[in-house]
Amino acid sequence: MLKLSHPNISDSAIDAVIDVLRSGNLVHGAENEEFERELAAYLGCAEVVLVSSGTAALHLAMMALGLGPGDAVVIPDFTFPATANVIALVGARPVLVDVEPDTYNLSIPCLLSVIENWTGPERLRAVMPVHEFGCPARIAEIQSIADQHSLVIVEDAACALGAEAEGGKKVGTFGRLGCFSFHPRKTLTTGEGGALATDDIALAQRLRRMRSHGMERSGGSVTFTEVALNYRLTQFQAALGRYQLPRLDEWIDRRSELASHYLQILSSAPGGNRFALPAANSGHSWQTFMITLPEGVSRATVVAALRKDGIESGAGAQCLSSIGLYGKPPAPTPISARLATHGLALPLFEQMTKCDVEEVCAALFKATS
Ligand SMILES: *Cc1c(COP(=O)(O)O)cnc(C)c1O
Repeated sequence: MLKLSHPNISDSAIDAVIDVLRSGNLVHGAENEEFERELAAYLGCAEVVLVSSGTAALHLAMMALGLGPGDAVVIPDFTFPATANVIALVGARPVLVDVEPDTYNLSIPCLLSVIENWTGPERLRAVMPVHEFGCPARIAEIQSIADQHSLVIVEDAACALGAEAEGGKKVGTFGRLGCFSFHPRKTLTTGEGGALATDDIALAQRLRRMRSHGMERSGGSVTFTEVALNYRLTQFQAALGRYQLPRLDEWIDRRSELASHYLQILSSAPGGNRFALPAANSGHSWQTFMITLPEGVSRATVVAALRKDGIESGAGAQCLSSIGLYGKPPAPTPISARLATHGLALPLFEQMTKCDVEEVCAALFKATS
């Protein structure tokens, strides 16, 4: 079975994990501190705070920025539900906005229209762009809109570690906070895991307390400074992540090559291209390759046909307003709805060959002919 993705864990990465397990120091340790420094250097930001998942990173971001009842946070309607869950969990309102059909990211006209026509009752406090599937969102435009309207930016870069905006600056380093996930579906994985990036050193210190029961240690004594959680990453997970980081850019290059190969074959389909294809923006880290099926084609039928040919495929992300847990969007979100029903994620990971890509395309043409 050709899977949608496959973790890239080398024997030396496994050895590093075993060393930590043998050491007996399983929770927080030197591997965590090194991994935080190495990630900050890779991203080009002042501080990285490791946590136990991407959702934990997003949740801590909401809490640390003091978002709660009476506040509203703008997010794209097409994303993974965790983006909205963390907002709802702190008592704030997720405001769902439509996305672009080819980048799957926040639409700037839709964002502007929702902000300009906002009548409450909540106060708009933040915007949380998602760099969906590794495609950099229009962050410069979002920044200028956020500045104009005094909104704080939290980036959901959960699936976009290594993606770059125009000018080469890494996504996740533009907002007050950027959140990353190391789930096995992402390019770099620690099993479960996540991180926050920020240039605000005091905020990073606070996040480090919040991920560890609100504890502050100094001179051998411990004080509990605030009501908090346990969102720590284990030391063996940090060791696993550290081994992958130096190879990440090479993996993203390889994914990029494979995505180009997909785009080239799909755009020159026999009888003409019938699929809507993802934008190949520069700086894309290609965590997922998702196309959109034509209106009359059933995704379930295509997924079943591909499975018969030994190929895994499936939905890319969700339309949150269709789920019904997050309230009604202020304006219709037809693109998000269509991407959620007709989006088809195809296998993409750096260990794949160009031949694998050709086989997937041939199976897809057969399944939709
Ligand atoms: C993966 C993902 C998350 C959740 O990350 P976890 O580590 O699984 O908690 C949140 N948002 C987006 C956009 C994601 O892709």
